Amino acid sequence: MIEPEYIRLVKETEICKNCKNIVVGKGNENADILFVGESPGKNEDEQGLPFVGKAGKNLDELLKKVGLSLEEIYVVNILKCRPPENRDPLSEEIKAHTPWLIEQIKSIKPKVVCSLGNYATKFFLAEGDVEKMINQPGITLVHGKVRFVEISGMKIKLIPLFHPAAIIYNQNLLPLWEKDMEIVKKEIKESLAQKKLF
Ligand code: URA
Repeated sequence: MIEPEYIRLVKETEICKNCKNIVVGKGNENADILFVGESPGKNEDEQGLPFVGKAGKNLDELLKKVGLSLEEIYVVNILKCRPPENRDPLSEEIKAHTPWLIEQIKSIKPKVVCSLGNYATKFFLAEGDVEKMINQPGITLVHGKVRFVEISGMKIKLIPLFHPAAIIYNQNLLPLWEKDMEIVKKEIKESLAQKKLF
């Protein structure tokens, strides 16, 4: 079978040649909510699954608090491979890895996309134009605010959220996360109700 272009693009990057596993995603592929993080860390690289390390444990707890489990969500990252020493993603890497993310969104068709932290949020706010990510507002300004963005012809309801790793280090963010998640739940309810009208 011929490998799809979006997989070939990922495999051609240096970080992919140096990682242990390509981290595709986890959760329910028919979920209404898609969470998008930044990139796999050491544990994610070893296990081939996103959010299984410290940030992942926190994400699990944060989701449990608001009554959500892996059965109701799908979790991915902007990058499919771990950058060395967990450094920030490079523009070239985001360009090469996000066509796969876009394919995943096309297939999952989530009602709501929750971007976790600055990189994922800026990618969506820039509507997939990596050069424009630098001009986008940071997560402290936009968290919990519903935005409609268009990527590859898809209209996406985006709700930016703080990254679970940031909440580990700053517990003051916890009440903000809980408030933001109430918005996520309300938006999903509305999207499902609208669907039933047609
Ligand atoms: N941080 C992320 O953004 N993604 C992971 O998978 C793990 C940590």
